[in-house]
Amino acid sequence: MRRISPIWHPMTQHKICGPALHVDSAAGARLKLRGGQEIIDGISSWWVNTHGHCHPKIVEAVRAQAGKLEQVIFAGFTHDPAENLTRKLLSTVHRAFEGKDGSALDTVFYSDSGSTAIEVALKMAIGFHEHKNQDEAGEKRHKVIALEGGYHGDTFGAMAAGSRGVFNALYEPFLFDVKHVPFPKAGQEMRSLAWLDKWLKRYGAQTAAFVFEPLVQGAAGMRVYSPKVLCKMAQMCREHGVLLIADEVMTGFGRTGSMFACEQADFTPDLLCLSKGLTGGFLPMGATLATEEIYKAFYHDEKAKQFFHSTSFTGNPLACVAALASLEIWDEEPVMEQIAAIEASHLKAAGWYSARPDVMDVRVKGSIFAIDVRDDVQGYLSSIGHEIYDFMLANGVLLRPIGNTVYILPPYCIDQQDLECIYETLWRSLDSFRNDCFQQAA
Ligand SMILES: *Cc1c(COP(=O)(O)O)cnc(C)c1O
Repeated sequence: MRRISPIWHPMTQHKICGPALHVDSAAGARLKLRGGQEIIDGISSWWVNTHGHCHPKIVEAVRAQAGKLEQVIFAGFTHDPAENLTRKLLSTVHRAFEGKDGSALDTVFYSDSGSTAIEVALKMAIGFHEHKNQDEAGEKRHKVIALEGGYHGDTFGAMAAGSRGVFNALYEPFLFDVKHVPFPKAGQEMRSLAWLDKWLKRYGAQTAAFVFEPLVQGAAGMRVYSPKVLCKMAQMCREHGVLLIADEVMTGFGRTGSMFACEQADFTPDLLCLSKGLTGGFLPMGATLATEEIYKAFYHDEKAKQFFHSTSFTGNPLACVAALASLEIWDEEPVMEQIAAIEASHLKAAGWYSARPDVMDVRVKGSIFAIDVRDDVQGYLSSIGHEIYDFMLANGVLLRPIGNTVYILPPYCIDQQDLECIYETLWRSLDSFRNDCFQQAA
């Protein structure tokens, strides 16, 4: 066993992967490797970055805060960074969801990742019904439903909510039972609605929550579905008192063309999970936003009814100022216009890629572009992705395909030249791959 570093990297089969690339610095949409090579970050460093790397405003905010207050216990204590961020985050959310169906999101619980934001939402949903039940003696809501193909993180609760597959097969016996609504693929929406209708008629009163990635399922391969069917599913759940947990960890902060994806489906979820782009991708932070009604279910004279959850770094001041600076950048820079420009470029590229016989499906949603490459082995274990990954890197672009799905999800600051470089390099990558196949067949 040959090891270059004792670090165990995430989602990495160390026996077959080469050594990790060593990054020295980054700016805008580019990473600079040790040795000087520059790479275009075509996936926003795993979907987290929004305004570009080392945005000066966020750098300055974190630098100034670091010398003042770096971290403090958040139970019984608070500070300006958290209070200011919360006001700004809530006003951003209120503006985005103004006039949409549902109650306003009025309270924020901080944690430190997307997975923890989901765990918190699940625990809030279950606790909400449990506490209400004690008051009303209703039926116990011990069931959770989620959208098939969903990915919600790698902690146990998040894995349970997620779809079962190669990501979590090993842990399946340890996951609590979650039923999955069939994915509402274009043209098959009625099937999903019929399933949900049947479920809700039978188990609606026992179901605590519906967990979903709105409009785009990231890890499932940037699978897109219509806002209309999501709106319908949300309405149906509401009629049965099933709480809506929107996992906007990836879709939040502009990825799908609006600040939050649920806006496009015209409803406010009961619980909104945010992370990745919250700090502009600068520091780890999770946030679970909840309605006043959910907060109230835990608001009680009895200590036993408080919300039993904490992560050590909840409300970290450095993360808070990074997030606040990031939200201010949305006001100060034409971020929505940048996203619209990226979408326009994606749509043009989609036209070219649709014409390729080796491309099966092309999707564009906001700043996200995705294609499925024809391969005998479909899904996450398809090897095409690795070859494209290597080819792209050798040509100065970071893309990290999910099996045979290749997607581009750039930082919003990316310039037209770099964006076109990504389309062209990917085009050449597919050409070279196809030529290799022909040679092997000959
Ligand atoms: C990445 C992701 C998560 C998990 O977030 P982490 O910060 O990696 O724990 C959850 N849900 C969705 C939709 C994600 O894309």
